[in-house]
Amino acid sequence: MSYSTVAVLGNSFFPANSKSKNSPDRKEIISLLQRCKHMNQIQSLHAKIIKKGQENDPFIAFELIRVCSNFNSIDHASKIFQNAQNPNVYLYTALIDGFVLSGSYVDAIRLYCQMVYESILPDAYAITSVLKACGFQLALEEGKQVHGQALKLRLSSNRLIRMKLMELYGKCGEFENAQQVYAEMPEGDVVASTVMITCYLNYGFINEAIGVFNRVLVRDTVCWTAMIDGFVRNGEFNRALEVFREMQEDDVRPNEVTMVCVLSACSQLGALELGRWLHFYIEKYGIKLNHVVGGALISMYSRCGDIDEAQRVFDGMKERDVTTYNSMISGLAMHGKSIEAIEMFRRMMKQGISPNNITFIGVLNACSHGGLVELGYEIYHSMTRDYGIEPQIEHYGCMVDLLGRVGRLEEAYNFIREMKIAPDHIIYGALLSACKIHGNTEIGESIAKILVDCGRADSGTYILLSNVYALSGRWKEAAKVRAKMEEGGMLKEPGCSSIEVNNEIHEFLLGDIRHPQREVIYKKLKELNRVLKLEGYLPSTEMVLHDMEDEQKEWALAIHSERLALCYGLISTAPYTTLRIVKNLRVCNDCHSMIKLVSKITRRRIVVRDRNRFHHFENGGCSCGDYW
Ligand code: ZN
Ligand code: ZN
Repeated sequence: MSYSTVAVLGNSFFPANSKSKNSPDRKEIISLLQRCKHMNQIQSLHAKIIKKGQENDPFIAFELIRVCSNFNSIDHASKIFQNAQNPNVYLYTALIDGFVLSGSYVDAIRLYCQMVYESILPDAYAITSVLKACGFQLALEEGKQVHGQALKLRLSSNRLIRMKLMELYGKCGEFENAQQVYAEMPEGDVVASTVMITCYLNYGFINEAIGVFNRVLVRDTVCWTAMIDGFVRNGEFNRALEVFREMQEDDVRPNEVTMVCVLSACSQLGALELGRWLHFYIEKYGIKLNHVVGGALISMYSRCGDIDEAQRVFDGMKERDVTTYNSMISGLAMHGKSIEAIEMFRRMMKQGISPNNITFIGVLNACSHGGLVELGYEIYHSMTRDYGIEPQIEHYGCMVDLLGRVGRLEEAYNFIREMKIAPDHIIYGALLSACKIHGNTEIGESIAKILVDCGRADSGTYILLSNVYALSGRWKEAAKVRAKMEEGGMLKEPGCSSIEVNNEIHEFLLGDIRHPQREVIYKKLKELNRVLKLEGYLPSTEMVLHDMEDEQKEWALAIHSERLALCYGLISTAPYTTLRIVKNLRVCNDCHSMIKLVSKITRRRIVVRDRNRFHHFENGGCSCGDYW
């Protein structure tokens, strides 16, 4: 409960000596103010109040500040406050609240200090309000001073104040202080425990969060959801699902927020079976299929490789907003259904729904996957011209991708040079991979150099650059690049692939030997390599370091994580079952051509989601048309 709602409950919060407490005029004005629908109404009412000379009535001034703040008109609220004679703690708090509401946290803290300076004693509401501001502003020192004042005023046992203190300390990473406040609270306060859990999880202190969680005797939906959400935000998707299963066993009903968190974990892991079950659950228990839940379901289906089901969910929704459309458009684009994605974009416009910057990322992606250059340009220009949306780095990235895909590399390079914001390594990386595919070493070299110089090169970039130098006989430069690479100035995110088998997610890293069935998996891999060789498969060894023996090179390729996931899928599912693999990085050329062949030999559909898009492998071909 906020200060404002409490304050309007009764007049008892105001000093008893206020004159003519129950004047009918005042009552009427306040109720008129509370019924205002927009700022214009408030302003004309305010003019009448001034005319009647009631501006200094503390009740009316309070209500004016409150409604102005609620209508996001903080300047107006400030003026009313400045005109008030001898503002009391309630007027101060109303404006502090207003500042917090409008995101002017520094102003809120400053006003609170002014109040204390004017020797007006803060009450619990004022303190709660300023602590909120301190939390948002990460103003630890100020927060500590307020904490001290609360202790002096004997207000420190107030539950709301304690919550806000915990939040502030938690946000600032002062866990000892947060823990101390928490320890002083009555045991079994599930809301306080949830605040503490969220504090820890925001900083990735998973074990500490679990410690608090385990001590909560009766966990409610919000507490469980905080735990699941924390795991999702820390990238621990499998553990998020585990906690969700425990929540089921504990018979606690999930709400919409829980569903969105769990669906997002499924999306990340590619856990289609579990996602389907969640969909069923949502229907069975009548969880509202609102924009957020619907959008999460659409994302889950499309990111787990079932774009048709995503479409069915979309079609079945009664109300759709821009987020719903965005989920669908980017899903279609990711699956290479460019025309459908653009059709969806047009449909959205016809419905009178305004696109936002995320919509344009989806549509431009669709243009890129479909090689639709002219349309892409048209949409890119219309973004600023018709919708006033300034392109962000992602939009530039889509355009570079689009131009790179069709081989207009010079144009893409010029496009980067003319960008209004500084290009990042992702943009350069997109152009670099286009240069590799189209065999343009000239631009490729200058891009690779930029990436090496700013320390954002991955191993592939170093290899490309040293190969270019080696091929043109610039041995010294080649050696320099190699040395720099060995120095460890190289960024490499570990490759990780996962596959869902029998409702369980199995994760594999590069050359992983942790899986209990590793022997069978590696046996399958060897067998597969033999068969592939007979089919004429030649690993393209130039992707790996030069100084390896040929056989070693092949072996290094052979254990990319997606290959392990693939082999596990092959040995643990019935023949002809579709395999769905999720990889956190881009699939390399070699794995791509290998999986194509495997789809032909085993007559399986293999769906691979990599960092950029979906690859639907079938009968020796891929839906991406070998450009990704
Ligand atoms: Zn690979
Ligand atoms: Zn592909």
